[in-house]
Amino acid sequence: MFKVPPLAPQRLQKLLRAMPKAELHIHIEGSLEPELIFALAQRNGVPLPYASVEALRQAYAFTNLQSFLDIYYAGASVLLHEQDFYDMARAYLARAAMDNVAHAEIFFDPQTHTARGVAMEAVINGLHRACEDARAELGISATLILCFLRHLSEASAFETLEQAQPLLGKIVGVGLDSSEVGHPPEKFARVFARCRELGLHLVAHAGEEGPPAYIWSALDVLKVERIDHGVQAVHDAALMQRLAQDRIPLTVCPLSNQKLCVFPDLKDHNLRQLLDAGLCATVNSDDPAYFGGYINENFTQVFAATAMTARHAYQLAFNSFEASFASQADKRVWEHRLKEAFERFVEHD
Ligand SMILES: [Zn+2]
Repeated sequence: MFKVPPLAPQRLQKLLRAMPKAELHIHIEGSLEPELIFALAQRNGVPLPYASVEALRQAYAFTNLQSFLDIYYAGASVLLHEQDFYDMARAYLARAAMDNVAHAEIFFDPQTHTARGVAMEAVINGLHRACEDARAELGISATLILCFLRHLSEASAFETLEQAQPLLGKIVGVGLDSSEVGHPPEKFARVFARCRELGLHLVAHAGEEGPPAYIWSALDVLKVERIDHGVQAVHDAALMQRLAQDRIPLTVCPLSNQKLCVFPDLKDHNLRQLLDAGLCATVNSDDPAYFGGYINENFTQVFAATAMTARHAYQLAFNSFEASFASQADKRVWEHRLKEAFERFVEHD
């Protein structure tokens, strides 16, 4: 591992913004800013229960995962056509490039759209075209992960997989999201087994609000390669050991955890504890339009609150590349760029 000297707090904040990084936990529907929601509502003639952009922004006062999800699904109702999905993903990728995201693995929730009569092709083709254009025009690499909504049935997940089957070449994996408590991973054991047969990468949300047992079953029953969130793992020593030993990545989202009251005060966030225990933790934005910050805000705020160091910054960015589903060749390029970014900052200190 590259040796990282300590940096003054202000210099570290600059470095956090400048360093290349991968974002592995971003729900594209959660990147919809109120301005774009209103523009798409107007374009598509969809009525909104909010009088203005400001009124919608003010409604973003969540107390838990469910109160957030209620507004999240209302916002997604403006997405109808392929171009809408393209515009949403393109807006996120432009914003991510500004935060020096070199690679993004983007979650999307097709059931939120197909349930409203939107065709699977419109969803996947729009998002995929945005990823292709962003690679060419912004120099950012981006791939797609289809997420099943865990509050819906296994049958609905299977139906979704079937609809997506002709388009599987445009996605790299599947995930599991939405209301966690009461919907353990094992509910989707057969769906994930089928996805594994199809050669898809597997991830799942587990241990955000739910217990460590959900992380165990995501690993052992669903056989996922990454855990999304996973912050509740600290309550189970054997699980911490397993995650460290097998280098199972956790995609941690500090501002989301704060907004949804998993850690009401960022200074109590356990990211540093996860890293210091040798886990492959990463920093991500989850639903940045709703949780008050894109990836760089997540980095700078959690570092300021928990007094992490330049060594942690390097580890987190390095982990994000290691944990990605990109090619080994791409990973080496990004790791090299990461090292160069750190050397520049250290030299000029
Ligand atoms: Zn999430």
